[in-house]
Amino acid sequence: MKTGQNHLFIPGPTNVPERVRMAMNVPMQDMRAPDFGDLTLPLFAGLKKVFRTKSAEVFMYPGSGTGAWEAAITNTLNNGDRVLMSRFGQFSHLWVDMAERLGLDVDCIDVEWGKGVPVEQYAEKLKADTEGRIKAVFVTHNETATGVTSDIAAVRAALDEADHDAMLYVDTVSGLGSVDFRFDDWGVDLAVSGSQKGLMLPAGLGILAASQKAIEASKTGTMDRCFFDFADMMKMNADGYFPYTPPTQLFHGMRESLGMIFEEGLDNVIARHYRLGEGVRRAVAAWDGCELCATDPKWYSDTVSAIRVPKNVDARDVISHGYSRYSTSFGSGLSQLAGKVFRIGHLGSLNEVMCIAGIGSAEMALADAGARIELGSGIAAAQAWYRGDMQQELKIAAE
Ligand SMILES: *Cc1c(COP(=O)(O)O)cnc(C)c1O
Repeated sequence: MKTGQNHLFIPGPTNVPERVRMAMNVPMQDMRAPDFGDLTLPLFAGLKKVFRTKSAEVFMYPGSGTGAWEAAITNTLNNGDRVLMSRFGQFSHLWVDMAERLGLDVDCIDVEWGKGVPVEQYAEKLKADTEGRIKAVFVTHNETATGVTSDIAAVRAALDEADHDAMLYVDTVSGLGSVDFRFDDWGVDLAVSGSQKGLMLPAGLGILAASQKAIEASKTGTMDRCFFDFADMMKMNADGYFPYTPPTQLFHGMRESLGMIFEEGLDNVIARHYRLGEGVRRAVAAWDGCELCATDPKWYSDTVSAIRVPKNVDARDVISHGYSRYSTSFGSGLSQLAGKVFRIGHLGSLNEVMCIAGIGSAEMALADAGARIELGSGIAAAQAWYRGDMQQELKIAAE
């Protein structure tokens, strides 16, 4: 029999804080009641703050991030539209796959897994497209399969330099609410997210922000859509209602989780993710024969580390030992990374000591799987970083 709790170090679903779980334990309620908007309208406002937008429309669909991808595409594009995409991990791959299956004409740039968005190639293609055939540019902000964060502002700059009118679509499912995201400043047109990652909620909501330009495009977009139709949603959302039954429990949870994010302060949440992620990275650097999948510090993700294991080790064994012996869930290596990589998710409701526990568990699982790492080496490196950082903060506070 297992005792204690299972430790969740997958990059979603993430830990749901006790406060949020308790807040969801409420009776079912009338979703047509006159005061239903009191619950929902502040959530739209709160999500706007997390997206850092004043001008966008925010949508919450029963579903998951993948549903929000589909909503973004089917509302704003037309069959046969040319779109510029790139593939450097399983999630960017799946978005390309969806775009092709929905009938878009996809120009996909394949990039070595471990790197991020190929900004220079995007810039060249946008400059060369003097007829404006490219209708949309897609970027996966935080590629969860490889632990790579891409520079969205640089893609916006490439669009501006080419004086190109294409809309900018960003998947920030595993970035929003944990790494810096700036919808308005970066001129994003559609930003896709979900409830079960940085927002510390159960799965169940696909969350989407759409610029006014995207809303305009949706009025003439001719792709088939029904459940995801922007117009139906917006008509009802204006007063806090939905065109079909919304998951009210999740809304109660979100009220609490957004409250927690704003109590901590969004900037502090982002700084905490850097601090926690850097501790994990230092642990990885201390493990003989292990290295990050992300090939350059500029790509390092503060929400997930994908870790290449030594050649003699099967990463699947690390994950299975972690789960069965140490009650710890690590993320697996997806697709071409299967067996080569395991992932430590470090986003959402997490602190230093939880990370130390995850690192310690990973060390045991790695050693069990045959890695010749020194037990405690990663823990020590992370402890030094977490303490050093704290001492630095105390020094600043004292000055
Ligand atoms: C989790 C994730 C998705 C898929 O979201 P679901 O909620 O599982 O549909 C898409 N993109 C990225 C980058 C993700 O991390």
